Amino acid sequence: AVPVTVVSAIGAASRFGVIVKSGAAFEQLGSLRRIAFDKTGTLTRNQPSVVTVLAGEGVDHERVIEWAAALEQFSTHPLAAAITAAAPSTPPASDVTEQPGEGIAGVVAGQSIAAGSPRWIAPGELAAQVTAMEAEGQTCVLVARDGETVGVIGIRDELRPEAPTAVASLQDQGLEVIMLTGDNARTANVLAGAAGITDVRAELRPEDKAAEISASVAQRPTGMIGDGINDAPALATATVGIAMGVTGADAAIESADVALTGNDLRIIPRALNHARRGRAIMN
Ligand code: ADP
Ligand code: MG
Repeated sequence: AVPVTVVSAIGAASRFGVIVKSGAAFEQLGSLRRIAFDKTGTLTRNQPSVVTVLAGEGVDHERVIEWAAALEQFSTHPLAAAITAAAPSTPPASDVTEQPGEGIAGVVAGQSIAAGSPRWIAPGELAAQVTAMEAEGQTCVLVARDGETVGVIGIRDELRPEAPTAVASLQDQGLEVIMLTGDNARTANVLAGAAGITDVRAELRPEDKAAEISASVAQRPTGMIGDGINDAPALATATVGIAMGVTGADAAIESADVALTGNDLRIIPRALNHARRGRAIMN
């Protein structure tokens, strides 16, 4: 049975937007020594918007964003909403398949279209532009048609305003804070620097994130905070998997031990403090 003190502490936690799945998860929350944040949708606002669209030789830039939007209308990835919102129209698409942490592909107007990271779709003649956009903190989504790169979409997702405060208060509590991301190292370092995080592991696929967490857990209790879309394996591997911005019917809650219903990162240092106190009462 779950001790009464822990149950009442969990009740208090749920009042400020933290849903803890079990007494064991609550105790482990108080024992964490390292916190790993996913970047997109966790440290960032999750209101990404398209700021650049570039097309290769002989391609109209409106087609680039429309082809991408045709695929992204089937995705729940934070980048997908930005792309569909920016497209002048969204054509139909078929045979759409998404590769978590990499991109999305399908058939649009009889052509094979793919949209995804520069790791997944080689930038080709757009390489110099991609590098410059990344150095400005933009996330690049490359667009390919019938296997040839035809354009790049630059997306900016601002850091959540409270991120530096939340990171600093975790560090003040003696926790190490790291960032894991599928995004490229240049974009990742711009955002991590602004958040006060120096340990950045970038260009990770979902299974790489899980491997990083597994190696970390072997060293010390590690919490992983993600929005869950591509982070399910890492959340499941962490000492405590914390899903953020959970709305109820969310798949992320399945792989997490703790779910945050709100979107304010300062709840994380608060929850850890709370869990540590809950544990102290029991001891
Ligand atoms: P993060 O770790 O920052 O949350 P993800 O693992 O979700 O990033 O995605 C990593 C990268 O894969 C993205 O930066 C993007 O380039 C690409 N990507 C993933 N899903 C999509 C998608 N639906 N459309 C376009 N690009 C995608
Ligand atoms: Mg993410």
